[in-house]
Amino acid sequence: MKTLKKSYLKRTICLILVALMFFCLFALSGCKKKQDDLNSIADKLNCYNIDIDFDVNTHHAAVKQKVNYINHAQAVIKKLPFHIYPNFFKEGATNTIVPQNRMNDAYPNGVSYAEFNITRLQVAGGDTNINYVGEYDGILEVDLPFSLMPDDSVEIEFEYNFTLPNCQHRFGYGANTINLANFYPIACVYDANGFNLSGYNSNGDPFYSDMANYNVTLTADKNYLVAHTGDLVEEMANENTTTSVYSAKVVRDFAMVLSDKFSVESEKAGEVQVQYFYFDDADSTGSLKAAVDAINTFSNLFGVYPYKNFCVVKSDFIQGGMEYPNLVMIASDIQNADDYKNVIVHETAHQWWYGMVGNDEFLYPWLDESLTEFCTLLFYDNNEGYNLNHADMLKAERENYSLFISVYEDVLKSIDTSMRAVDKYNTEPEYTYCIYVKGVLMYDSLYNLIGKKAFYNALKTYFEQNKYTNVTPQNLISAFNEAAKTDLTNFFNSWVDGKVVIK
Ligand SMILES: [Zn+2]
Repeated sequence: MKTLKKSYLKRTICLILVALMFFCLFALSGCKKKQDDLNSIADKLNCYNIDIDFDVNTHHAAVKQKVNYINHAQAVIKKLPFHIYPNFFKEGATNTIVPQNRMNDAYPNGVSYAEFNITRLQVAGGDTNINYVGEYDGILEVDLPFSLMPDDSVEIEFEYNFTLPNCQHRFGYGANTINLANFYPIACVYDANGFNLSGYNSNGDPFYSDMANYNVTLTADKNYLVAHTGDLVEEMANENTTTSVYSAKVVRDFAMVLSDKFSVESEKAGEVQVQYFYFDDADSTGSLKAAVDAINTFSNLFGVYPYKNFCVVKSDFIQGGMEYPNLVMIASDIQNADDYKNVIVHETAHQWWYGMVGNDEFLYPWLDESLTEFCTLLFYDNNEGYNLNHADMLKAERENYSLFISVYEDVLKSIDTSMRAVDKYNTEPEYTYCIYVKGVLMYDSLYNLIGKKAFYNALKTYFEQNKYTNVTPQNLISAFNEAAKTDLTNFFNSWVDGKVVIK
């Protein structure tokens, strides 16, 4: 038997150890989930440059906006439509902002209307006419002076001003916060059916937009703090105002909330700076923790949140909460601390379902809203120390749904439980029960049918294959088919069409 020399043995052991070390490092780096590099995606997107001069006393804004629009459609574009959501908040359109039974909550100081006026519109450097189409002038149709070929771009410049209504809503102000959302012309999505010209509706979140890049400059009272989409890149102090420059890449909308009453607490969730803006919260640390836990949990379950910042903002808003990219509004009128945290978790889940994986929320609210609500239940499976849990919440949803069905059948003798477009419900409760409550029951049924492992795998695949795009129901169904190794088309159709009888 031949033995190795001692020095040779030592050198061999060293080599093996070094090799093992490299293997471990490689394995670790392979396992660690990294944030996506958004810069490579950003190059191909539309760009919005928005310069806002906002007066916090009159709630009036003077705005200059430049949009670099790229034709991503495989079609020639001659007219380019933009959503003008503020026109739905003007006099004459009040019935569409909130349901009639919520008017007093939305307008505690009496009905108030927005102003919105475009004073100049230019295309490729030349002035052009301002043509509105659609209900309540909800769509601005910009005539292009030339045919915009696929992959070509055009620059649209707007000058406009608006005054916010005294309304506790997305586009309005209350006693504590100024909510600057859906305030600017945003390009309509061109999808398989051409340009989508949906208007606005009091039910749900009636929005549909493409990923884009935003450079936003806001000049406002220096005593106001600003929660915002994207990153703060520059701040300049003026005599009485502060000018702040924000940059947001690969987001489908841009929103801000201003207040002179905000306190701010922040904490890291992995690479993400989570900030909680609030003006009255006895358990602010617990609220911030819910947001941090939600970012961590959903990053682990579905795929990593790729942005640097996330703002959770207590706001004068009447409908529980509202999601925007990197920013969620949480209604200040929620009294119960567990409900409040639950809304934080729900709105955070929307960063994945709506924020990164987008869809036509007007037509298919079950794609983002129902899935988000079910993921809110899943959060509690993955986080202890909260007073809510999956089983109890599910039981409550079943009871709520049974009550809804029996009441409606008693009164109306028949009921449409299909999960339809947001404007196809007679009342807001109908929408709530069909999309939130029945939505949870649908995804729970699927969870039990295909099992936990396949369910989570499906959502991982759905996220990975569709992030930063807009999906249709087929994208979701395909991801579940792949994970479950069976065709679930009939499952989804029967629930969405309202044929399933729930017992
Ligand atoms: Zn929601």
